[in-house]
Amino acid sequence: MDEHGGKKSILRKIGDAIGFYRNNAYVAEHLREADVRSTRYMAGVVAVIELGMLLRYVWRWVLPGKCETVADFFTYTQSYWILLTAALLMLIYSEVYVRGKIRRFPRLSWLWTGCFFLVAIYFGIMTGLTDFSKGKMITAFLTMMLFVTVTLVWRPFTSILLMLGFGGAFLFLIDHYSVDRDGNPIRMGEGDRLNYITFLISMTVLVLTVYYQRYREAVKSDILAKKTITDERTGIPNMHRFCEESKAFQEAHADREQVFLSFNVENFRTYNDRYGYSGGNELLKKIGELLAEHFPEEPYARQGDDKFAALCDAEGHEERIRALREAFLAQNTGEIYLDLKTGVYRSSKVEPEPRLAVDHARYAASLLKNHNDRYIREYDQKLAEGYSIRQYVLNNIEKAVKEGYIQVYYQPVMWASDGELCGCEALARWIDPEEGFLSPGQFIPVLEECRQIHKLDRCIYETVCRRLRESMDAGEAVFPVSLNFSRLDFELMDAVGELEALVEKYRIPRHYLHVEITESALSENDALLHEALDAFHEKGYAVWLDDFGSGYSSMNVLKDYRFDLLKIDMVFLKNFGDNPNSERIIKSILELAASLDMKTLTEGVETKEAVEFLKKAGCGRLQGYFYGKPQKYEEIRDRIESGEYKLSGQLI
Ligand code: C2E
Ligand code: CA
Ligand code: CA
Repeated sequence: MDEHGGKKSILRKIGDAIGFYRNNAYVAEHLREADVRSTRYMAGVVAVIELGMLLRYVWRWVLPGKCETVADFFTYTQSYWILLTAALLMLIYSEVYVRGKIRRFPRLSWLWTGCFFLVAIYFGIMTGLTDFSKGKMITAFLTMMLFVTVTLVWRPFTSILLMLGFGGAFLFLIDHYSVDRDGNPIRMGEGDRLNYITFLISMTVLVLTVYYQRYREAVKSDILAKKTITDERTGIPNMHRFCEESKAFQEAHADREQVFLSFNVENFRTYNDRYGYSGGNELLKKIGELLAEHFPEEPYARQGDDKFAALCDAEGHEERIRALREAFLAQNTGEIYLDLKTGVYRSSKVEPEPRLAVDHARYAASLLKNHNDRYIREYDQKLAEGYSIRQYVLNNIEKAVKEGYIQVYYQPVMWASDGELCGCEALARWIDPEEGFLSPGQFIPVLEECRQIHKLDRCIYETVCRRLRESMDAGEAVFPVSLNFSRLDFELMDAVGELEALVEKYRIPRHYLHVEITESALSENDALLHEALDAFHEKGYAVWLDDFGSGYSSMNVLKDYRFDLLKIDMVFLKNFGDNPNSERIIKSILELAASLDMKTLTEGVETKEAVEFLKKAGCGRLQGYFYGKPQKYEEIRDRIESGEYKLSGQLI
């Protein structure tokens, strides 16, 4: 398999094994480096041997006075000197190479290794021929061949050709020009010839084995290296590479101001649901291509999900963002409304990490959600407070859960018919010793964006169940509580399983818990949600549809999923009284629910008029400030005890 998972032909495989094809830069560099390292050892060994040979010569010939002049000494030992010089030069070369100084000039390493090869072969042949005439010894030649081939394995195709060429030439020279001390021609015997050829073959196999092993290593680490710097879905750089490149870019453009950009595809989830995983992927890839086109000289990357990042000069950045957005909008001809929102963060002198800078930009972009009139937002001092709360939330959610900073507030829900209390909605509050009171608007979207919402919800469910059990044990009046579920809860945890475990642990009758899922969380064909909703129903929980009418796909949701109750969003009551259409719409939603055999609840009930109207129109339950804000459990209990709230005899 190649790195893209495709099958290779046999020919290609053989070619790869003998190093016939040109390798990509990464693999070539890896092999060259491995080669240089073995060259270093080889050259070291050669240098030591040659020094030894020179000492031996001095010991045997110079000291006993057999060598008369210095000139004679050098004439007799010239091959040792040549080889020693070559080895020392190779040693210096590989040392410098390994330290990273001459990697920029790969041709130089060819030249060096080539020179070493030629010197070694020359020496090998000359000594080999002399040795042969002395006693049919060719070990010097064979050893030299070993040296050079081991240092030349990065493309064994070439080294094998060279080895066979020089090996054959050596055989030819021996057969035609070799003479003994008396000048008579000498030939290689059959046995020696066979040994010699076998040696060449063994060496070829050795070279191939070493090469192939190194080649596999190189390819493997190439794939790994690519994976760690490339985003798998789109093939464009990932954030790791972005950070590296950003630092280099900033250094190179230190004289100019730069901006970090974070792009966010608005409505990507709906698109993904509509066109499936592969359709969504195609869109992400397309954005990758657009980024490459619009930021050819600058670093860019996929940040994750539907978010991308880039870095460019501050001058003219708005124009470039506009051009990118236009190109994006132009190629999207589908039915789903999409937009590209961009957050901008000006890098300051006190340089934050690229990742942090992009995160600031991302925060600015996140504030553009659902603002159809704007697509650029720059991070400025005004956003700093929100950003720091966001960071605080992300850094402290676990602590908040553990230390009990997360509390549950209960908002009463009344029967429209008699105004008696039939349950409460559990709403999260974060009461922090440092930051004070945090409202869900400050932490729920952040936790959802960063996929941490399940940590909070798990805590809310447990707090509610524990509370109900305590009340039951204390013999107090209890009422059903509805729990909010995020779409992500079903992805990030086994939501049904977790709730079931709590119900068992605290022995809570299941009809005391309602599951609320907001309309915007639901889209067509969401197998995960279908499965979870079916499981909730099967276990005996009532499932409520929250915020009905607030999103784009209300009707589809009703068509695709089964709910026990429809919770009409508070937007319809916003201008109640001024706008006669509100009444008509609410009435028809109530009729629709009745025809689908669903119960109803209207949220955001603030006035007596709204109560009267909803009661007459046949809405089942009401919730809103008219009856009470979200409050502590004890307050609800006290109000029940004091008679301010009358707990209904009918709770389902
Ligand atoms: P929601 O589920 O639609 O909750 C109703 C929100 O409307 C609550 O805001 C409530 O305080 C507010 N509200 C109730 N009656 C009235 C009224 O008469 N007038 C007005 N103007 N507002 C009213 P809150 O508590 O700030 O929660 C906001 C949103 O945060 C919730 O909207 C819900 O989507 C989310 N949320 C709250 N608690 C949790 C939780 O524990 N888990 C999850 N996943 N989401 C939660
Ligand atoms: Ca709710
Ligand atoms: Ca709601």
